[in-house]
Amino acid sequence: MPALFTFLRNRFFGGFRDRAAIDRHQKAGLARLRRKIMPQSPFYASLADRPMADWPVMNKTLLMEHFTEINTRNLPREKALETALHAERSRNFSPMFGDVAVGLSTGTSGQRGLFLTDARERRLWTAVMLARFLPKPLWKRQRIAFFLRANNALYQELGNRLIEFRYYDLLKDFDSHVARLQAQNPTVLVAPAQALIELARRQAAGEIYLAPQRIISVAEVLSPEDAAKIQSAFGHQPDQVYQATEGVLGFTCKAGHLHLNERYLVVERDVIDPETGAFCPVITDFTHETLPILRYRLDDVLIPEAAPCPCGCASQRIARIEGRADDMLYWPKADGGRRLIFSDMIRQEIALLSVPVRDYRIVQYGQSELVIALDSIASERAAKELHSRLEALATRLDCLLPMLTFREGLPPDLGPKRRRIRALPENALSHDASAAATTDSEILRFPGAVHRALIA
Ligand SMILES: [Zn+2]
Repeated sequence: MPALFTFLRNRFFGGFRDRAAIDRHQKAGLARLRRKIMPQSPFYASLADRPMADWPVMNKTLLMEHFTEINTRNLPREKALETALHAERSRNFSPMFGDVAVGLSTGTSGQRGLFLTDARERRLWTAVMLARFLPKPLWKRQRIAFFLRANNALYQELGNRLIEFRYYDLLKDFDSHVARLQAQNPTVLVAPAQALIELARRQAAGEIYLAPQRIISVAEVLSPEDAAKIQSAFGHQPDQVYQATEGVLGFTCKAGHLHLNERYLVVERDVIDPETGAFCPVITDFTHETLPILRYRLDDVLIPEAAPCPCGCASQRIARIEGRADDMLYWPKADGGRRLIFSDMIRQEIALLSVPVRDYRIVQYGQSELVIALDSIASERAAKELHSRLEALATRLDCLLPMLTFREGLPPDLGPKRRRIRALPENALSHDASAAATTDSEILRFPGAVHRALIA
């Protein structure tokens, strides 16, 4: 697929008109995978003629375990890993075997993953990204600022006469980027949500003055709170690329809604909550030829949106990316069952408080205790009010509210990715560093209906 063709199609032609068109396209894509890609992979060769349901469901651990047999270039895992680690240590980002670039991902779970891309795959994604997000007019020179955790050959190819590309290493001190960024004055700003927030904060404080025409949030979930902060600092709503190491899963469209990237992926659903249809995506990617990604289950929980999009594209809409599967909150029900509680439900209750809350963190331990840290000018009042709101929410949802502990001030964020809501096992409370660091700040505690039920 020539890159120019990909660019033109993505830039000037709309998405699929209906589900039948998507099915036809994906059927052809799968046939091509079976014919051209799977036979080159020792792991998949014998599965090429079998129904898709017979292909094993992959995850990061399995993919790493069988890396040597899965990839189509006969690259041994140890060799790939060694090269990637060396490149990361030296901050020299051209770890290549011929035209194959080796990358290393950490992911939210901290487990390291290897990924491979060849020149064709990198050109394809470059073309798709540019087509989607390059501001008009196309002949005007654009200055793109990329904030990335590790450099990535995917993006390095972007530089040419029409595009100035600068790379900002997120592992370096943020202050060291500011002067260079101000001098570049990017027209397109591409960064993970956390870095966009930091830039928005500096812009709001008058430390920098940037005027990007497009802002693209990549690599981690962009919460509505963060999107609002970015929009208020820069005057533009950020676009979102929903991307995992394993593939580009979705983009926001012209109407600002997130769609699954069904032109390049088949997305099966592992439904975790039948009531809302919340699911973990199991992806089969047509574009990864070096390291095939077939029936790969991601830990993200997506909430589907049934309504058609005003943009006219029939690709599945996603109401939101709820978060990681093991960070879902479940509240117990009186009948012994449990109910999935969306972060959005809690977010809305916080937004409705009469006292403004600047930010919050929530950790649930097992199903019995919820610890809520509030950053507010009147934390105690906010805590009391939030307690009654959550009690009412639990009643509406027909479940039991866990014990609530409120803390004043936020614990430090652990790890590079901010998670406002986390779920940990019951016994984690005593070992949790972020909880221990803020024990002094406890302000209020409410025994929950769960405990009352236990006592009675
Ligand atoms: Zn749309």
